[in-house]
Amino acid sequence: MTAATHISNSKVALVTGASRGIGAAIAERLASDGFAVIVNYAGSEGAAREVVGRIEAAGGRALAVRADVADAASVRAMFEAAESAFGGVDVLVNNAGVMSLSTIAQSEDEAFDHMVSINLKGSFNTLREAARRLRDGGRVINLSTTVLALLQPTYGIYAATKAGVEALTSILAKEMRGRGITVNAVAPGPTATDLFLNGKPPELVERMAKAAPLERLGQPEDIAAAVAFLAGPDGAWINGQTLRANGGLA
Ligand code: NDP
Repeated sequence: MTAATHISNSKVALVTGASRGIGAAIAERLASDGFAVIVNYAGSEGAAREVVGRIEAAGGRALAVRADVADAASVRAMFEAAESAFGGVDVLVNNAGVMSLSTIAQSEDEAFDHMVSINLKGSFNTLREAARRLRDGGRVINLSTTVLALLQPTYGIYAATKAGVEALTSILAKEMRGRGITVNAVAPGPTATDLFLNGKPPELVERMAKAAPLERLGQPEDIAAAVAFLAGPDGAWINGQTLRANGGLA
């Protein structure tokens, strides 16, 4: 079988927020595992095209699709684009996310609305489309966070959105009964991306890196490996679970 035949027959994965950070690593890892990949982005078109370029250079197949996950119509259009490009969708990775930190007392309405609209409503929008459209035997992997184990001050709104994502994970796993579709979450600890690093002084980053027994930050590829396990054949019997990928932090 030629590489091209293998790819054209491959399963299809849609990864939200795949222009940068963990999502970009997931897209590249799933492509190297044989999936055709939809590389979703909101604003970073150039970065998304670079991810597609790296996948194609390695012999894979990918398409960059712009969609704000907070917008239900855009999410629908993105699934339609995936179906017309690759024939269907088998795997949804709900990775797009934003985080800003503040005590509850000092939080602004805008920060609440922003995180809820992308992390929670955005996940709901893609999960609803996946529930309606994913091919039988498919997989859904949602990105949660180890913050839900630690519950530190200033993470209130962010943690609340991800608690909602974990609840949706467990319930959708049950609602997919009879279709062979698994629904799980991966909950990273501190991982070296813009989302984690931006705005933190180096001493704090160093302290947080040493907090896990494995004494380093997670890398996007560490999280992509956990997602790839759940998306691939070895993860077939895992359903309705949250897998903490955090070096043993909690
Ligand atoms: P980054 O900030 O590095 O990347 C975020 C990605 O999400 C970008 O590709 C961005 O696209 C995309 N995105 C943001 N808003 C939207 C939107 N409205 N619609 C579509 N895409 C959007 O974040 P990480 O890679 O660190 O985080 C990925 C996921 O992992 C998130 O869900 C996060 O909560 C979770 N996580 C991260 C941890 C960490 O320490 N880094 C720890 C635990 C969980 P664009 O550039 O086009 O805007």
